[in-house]
Amino acid sequence: DERVEAISNAIRVIPNFPKPGIQFQDVTTILLDPVAFKHTIDLLTERYRKLKVDVIAGFEARGLIFGAPLAIALGCAFVPLRKPGKLPGATISADYVTEYSTDRIEMHVGALQLGQRVVLVDDLIATGGTLRAGVELVKKAGGEVVEAACVIELPELKGREKLDGLPLHVLVEKE
Ligand code: IMP
Repeated sequence: DERVEAISNAIRVIPNFPKPGIQFQDVTTILLDPVAFKHTIDLLTERYRKLKVDVIAGFEARGLIFGAPLAIALGCAFVPLRKPGKLPGATISADYVTEYSTDRIEMHVGALQLGQRVVLVDDLIATGGTLRAGVELVKKAGGEVVEAACVIELPELKGREKLDGLPLHVLVEKE
């Protein structure tokens, strides 16, 4: 797909960020390119229009950027999954380990209704820890994760294998 190539070409690599040895895939250069940004949302919309999806849940920070326009395009709800202490209401949480930190995500109590079908959205899957925590949170709230969607997968880190069979849809693979 030409659109996938346009998206892939719009991603910038920053060496040694946030730590020496990490090649950071920078998606802010997708956002600077309105064609590539639109292709990203369009490709995800085309996929999830076919599935019955009630809620898009996006991870802070970059999963919010891609998840919110996807929710609008699908006509479904958007739920932000946020770092600790950011959400003003009562929250539930899940802990996780990422490629370079230990962290926690929170979701508002009442954001999900029992049995709602959720697609998790993030910019990138590395070790898969973030997505696993998202699955745990959605389950705690009584929802069902249908699939996880990321713009970029780093297949060398084998995060996909940590998702216990949860379907993962990615647009671009990077080394
Ligand atoms: P994981 O939990 O190890 O799969 O790491 C994925 C999380 O870390 C996502 O929320 C990403 O936004 C972030 N992340 C890790 N590496 C990169 C990168 O190279 N570019 C952008 N985000 C990254």
